[in-house]
Amino acid sequence: MRQYFRNIFTAVWTILIGMRITMRELFTPAVTREYPEHRPEIPDGFRGRLHNKIEDCVVCYACANICPVDCIYIEHEEAPRGQFYAFASNGAPIRRNATRFDIDMALCCYCGLCTEVCPTECLIMTKDFEYSTYDRQELIYHFAKPWPEAKPMPKARPTRRQDQTEEAAAEA
Ligand code: SF4
Ligand code: SF4
Repeated sequence: MRQYFRNIFTAVWTILIGMRITMRELFTPAVTREYPEHRPEIPDGFRGRLHNKIEDCVVCYACANICPVDCIYIEHEEAPRGQFYAFASNGAPIRRNATRFDIDMALCCYCGLCTEVCPTECLIMTKDFEYSTYDRQELIYHFAKPWPEAKPMPKARPTRRQDQTEEAAAEA
């Protein structure tokens, strides 16, 4: 009998604890943010629409390979032997010309893995979240901007040791 009343007390007590927050919110004034007039502040690290700074892309396929839903489509052509198109921001010569670099944002699950593996960090997730459309085709973003032509690779840059030797010779 004692256990019976104890159970009733426990049930009522836990309900009161749960309702405490509800009761408090009941008397808190409601706040309605009138979007889009009052735009939300997007925090850093937000995973919005993908963007590729294609001029810095070395076409390594790392992003396409890691994408869990296979929504990155890349095609490329190789530069002729001994030639390249440009240097990427990490110093690597770009020897592949992306003739196709499409991302289907309708399939993307916003995991961010592709941006994590990108060696030049040219693939980024922007804070843009307003790109809804009635046409799914408009959610396929095309980033390819093929280089017009390849150019010969420059002669090897001097190593750090060569630099130091030359400096020492100049000082002597
Ligand atoms: S965020 Fe994830 S799902 Fe979207 S393209 Fe990158 S790897 Fe694929
Ligand atoms: S991982 Fe980066 S550099 Fe490599 S293909 Fe993708 S966007 Fe280009």
